[in-house]
Amino acid sequence: MSQLQPIKGTHDLMFEDVRRHRYVEETAFEIARRYGYGEIATPIFEFTEVFKRTLGDTSDIVTKEMFTFETKGGDNITLRPENTAGVARAFISEGLAQQTPLKFFYRGPMFRYERPQKGRQRQFHQIGAELLGVPTPQADIEVIALGAHILKELKLTGAVTLELNSLGDIESRVAYRDVLVTFFTERTHKLSADSRERLARNPLRILDSKDPGDKAVVAEAPRFTDHLNTASRDFFKTVQDGLAALDIPFKVVPALVRGLDYYGHTAFEFTTDALGAQGTVLAGGRYDGLIKQMGGPPTPGIGWAAGVERLAMLLPEIAPEKRPIAVIPIGEEEIKVAQDITSKLRHAGFTVDIAFSGNMGKRMARANKIKAALAVILGSDELRDGVATVRNLDTGDQVKVPQADLARHLAGFK
Ligand code: ATP
Ligand code: MG
Repeated sequence: MSQLQPIKGTHDLMFEDVRRHRYVEETAFEIARRYGYGEIATPIFEFTEVFKRTLGDTSDIVTKEMFTFETKGGDNITLRPENTAGVARAFISEGLAQQTPLKFFYRGPMFRYERPQKGRQRQFHQIGAELLGVPTPQADIEVIALGAHILKELKLTGAVTLELNSLGDIESRVAYRDVLVTFFTERTHKLSADSRERLARNPLRILDSKDPGDKAVVAEAPRFTDHLNTASRDFFKTVQDGLAALDIPFKVVPALVRGLDYYGHTAFEFTTDALGAQGTVLAGGRYDGLIKQMGGPPTPGIGWAAGVERLAMLLPEIAPEKRPIAVIPIGEEEIKVAQDITSKLRHAGFTVDIAFSGNMGKRMARANKIKAALAVILGSDELRDGVATVRNLDTGDQVKVPQADLARHLAGFK
């Protein structure tokens, strides 16, 4: 029955998958905390206008990928396709302008109506960082360093490349745009239909095209880095020097762009070739014009977002979960004592599973299935003597331990 299937492009996360997701998120949060980032959790839906204003009417996300609907009350709302818009909206509606600089870190599900494939879902998860209120390149360096540090902690440094570019300040962008329009207009016949449209609306985005014909034209196009004014060139150089000083390797990629007007200066992506077409794991940039464009006080910002699914797929083997202790009452009479012992051990900090039913064989099989390190076995003899049999499930060795001494005896297995 199709109604009982998960919706296309969504997944039930459990067992090993959910552990890998948690591991990515918790590692990221731990590192972000060291850099002074506090968590922000904005709602998973916003008025559609919030995304239209931030992502622009012509972006792929807004034109093709949003899950938008009308509420019973007639509001037009959208499930968030990304979280920078929500953070910027919160910055404005919570009146945080006096509190800058602000450092926010987030995690959570995002929603995009895309064609599902490996590393591309309709509900996926991101972690991300936003640094608001700092106009200087030191912020760019720190935000990129945070991303690099998280990837290092996840043991992915060797699997990714940092690609870097500068989109300059407004003056540089206006000048470069003119140069680009002239260049592409002379080659309109070689461009895809999509890019011909982009030429009129948003020529920078042609640089980002995946179309092979467009790519050939783009390869010859004038480069942004050759059209930066002095201030923008200095800014970019400071970022590069700062990364080099932190031993963070990068590659300048002139075609790396963000097609929206409020992006400027630094744009970056950590990419991998281990995930086929879905090669970008972490992407970000400086968005000094965004908050003003949304109607807030002019506030510079820079941030990035990373796909948790893609990171979880790349992750090497993660540490196994702590092995539990299995408490095994042999018969009905022992259940009460077993429950009492289980509760005391849990309150003392042990991880304990109790077999709820079945004969001894079934209960031992469950202990093995959950990879218990020890079994604490309670039969009628044990009850009579006030002891428990503690069996090491790896070696088979077993000893009788007074029930009152169990916590002390098991201390090494906490
Ligand atoms: P792509 O080029 O892969 O579509 P994007 O430019 O749309 O990526 P961003 O909006 O920059 O991606 O989002 C940041 C990160 O979120 C991506 O680098 C990727 O790791 C992840 N991501 C984006 N869309 C999806 C998706 N549909 N499913 C899984 N992860 C995604
Ligand atoms: Mg996309």
